[in-house]
Amino acid sequence: MAVAQQVFLRDAMRRLNLTREIFAARIGVKRRALDTWLLPEGSQEFRTMPEVVQRFVTEIVENQHLMEKYAQVVQTGPLRDRIAVEGKHQLLSVEQFTRESVEELFRVADQMQPIARRQKVSRVLEGAVLGNLFFEASTRTRVSFGAAFSRLGGSVCDTTGFTFSSMAKGESIYDTSRVMSGYVDVMVIRHPEQGSVAEFAKATNIPVVNGGDGAGEHPSQALLDLYTILTEFSRLGKLLDGAHIAITGDLKYGRTVHSLVKLLALYKGLKFTLIAPPGLEMPQDVIDQVAKQGNHVIEQYSELADGLKGADVIYATRVQKERFADEQMEGYTADFQINKAVVERYCAEDVIVMHPLPRDSREGAHDLSVDLNPDPRLAIFRQADNGIPVRMAIFAVLLGVENLVQHSMRDVTWSPPSHIGPEDAVFHGMY
Ligand code: ASP
Repeated sequence: MAVAQQVFLRDAMRRLNLTREIFAARIGVKRRALDTWLLPEGSQEFRTMPEVVQRFVTEIVENQHLMEKYAQVVQTGPLRDRIAVEGKHQLLSVEQFTRESVEELFRVADQMQPIARRQKVSRVLEGAVLGNLFFEASTRTRVSFGAAFSRLGGSVCDTTGFTFSSMAKGESIYDTSRVMSGYVDVMVIRHPEQGSVAEFAKATNIPVVNGGDGAGEHPSQALLDLYTILTEFSRLGKLLDGAHIAITGDLKYGRTVHSLVKLLALYKGLKFTLIAPPGLEMPQDVIDQVAKQGNHVIEQYSELADGLKGADVIYATRVQKERFADEQMEGYTADFQINKAVVERYCAEDVIVMHPLPRDSREGAHDLSVDLNPDPRLAIFRQADNGIPVRMAIFAVLLGVENLVQHSMRDVTWSPPSHIGPEDAVFHGMY
């Protein structure tokens, strides 16, 4: 088989929009057997699927695949052209995606998993240089974009903050962007003003990725959040269509949730419960955009109890204190904290708890509690880890090398630990 068994099977399930349970039933195998075929090849429980199953699944997928492929070639072409902004290969907003194109990006992310899990290495972007321009605080986004690019064989140049950049000398966005374009092959930009990354993107023809523009959008975070939800749901045997997503915290200034709800709206019949203190509610234009599509139900609450019941996903967020005056914070009390007691009280055993991170661990911040750390329902570190394959996929697609990745892989020379976090759930990194 040209691709890893795990990638092959996950791809088949996603194309057919089937859960593991239903997929196993359709192809007439036991769910437990399918689970062992879906494990990474090096793991102890891994089993090779029988050849007859492989042939059967290939036949199903190829029939559907041929039709899809034909339609795409005729009407649409490569993924980067289909998500382009005014003909340029940029990622500025999740609005560039359809359900089909986002799932196509995730198939590329699935292919990146052996590299992200340190089983394989690739040099497919050898010689390419990434310019990471961060004019606002960042740990995860900056480092994971850098690591993703490096793991594909490229190299990374960073600038952080205004103080050490020429913007402190009064340089315009246009000049900075045009000058950087002469030095690097792709730029990831984070900037405190909404709309500023689009301005950078106008001044260049090289690919630009929005790493967060003020309270505007954070498309790569929303993509890895959706990828996480789909991956976790596949493990739990759930479908995203019809699911209940509860989003809590600062929904006004939290850019990750602006991007996430727009992206989730590509699915069907979702129930969104938006739980925010007075003054920090989701902006109306974002709600209107979601309400326009997919038969969604949107409910707004100012208390956790009302919005959490029956949720499949709790997505907690940090109060973006850096974006407003302290007085506006009054409504954000300890009652907004997502902790073990709240999850036990209102949610089922199969809920997943997410957060874009960082969580504010200072006293009085009432952000997502650390008492959930050993609880396998807490998906925040699996979510953060997914930043690597998804960001690798973004680069591969924007630079048009996604079809070269599979054949560029070699085995790693070192041995990473089987679990990278001391409190990782047993299935961490396996699905
Ligand atoms: N890291 C995310 C962002 O940059 C979330 C946060 O900062 O609260 O938007």
